[in-house]
Amino acid sequence: MSVHIHDYPGVPLKDRDIGDGRVLTTEWHVKAQYAWDTGAALSKFFRGLKEGKIYGRWCPGCDRVMVPPRMFCEWCFRPTVRWVEVGDTGRVNTFSVSYVNWDASRSAVPRVPAVVELDGASPGMGIMHLLGGVGDTLEEILGRVKVGMPVQAVWKPPAERQGAITDILYFAPRPGGEE
Ligand SMILES: [Zn+2]
Repeated sequence: MSVHIHDYPGVPLKDRDIGDGRVLTTEWHVKAQYAWDTGAALSKFFRGLKEGKIYGRWCPGCDRVMVPPRMFCEWCFRPTVRWVEVGDTGRVNTFSVSYVNWDASRSAVPRVPAVVELDGASPGMGIMHLLGGVGDTLEEILGRVKVGMPVQAVWKPPAERQGAITDILYFAPRPGGEE
């Protein structure tokens, strides 16, 4: 359709048109407070984290243990039926080395976000978290971290846990887990 349009009507808006007041603008501050109910599956998941446990849900249709847990299997279109406590150990499914902070500023120290497949959960089931204890420089990290590397969760002390994914500080290489 657009191939038939050779001459677009109108004038593109530029930043200075707004700055100089040549166009009508309005400004307001959104009051974006909200409450979020985590639901049955994630409520149990987060309560478990506070106790140092990781829970998944089992589906009898496909025999998968899913983490994070859900009450409904997206493969079988049926409810999951059982809680399963999985391990806090697992293997690195994929990872990255990041120099970007949460606010998009640059970080001097690289961090290593990773997907960890947890032992006791089905293949491909894992959680996104950080790796720690794997070096402070890109060279150290790339020399140490491999896909498939065994890792274990390093938890906050029990008194400091809040029922959040950050109750796990990071996943560290598992002692004796090298193959
Ligand atoms: Zn299923």
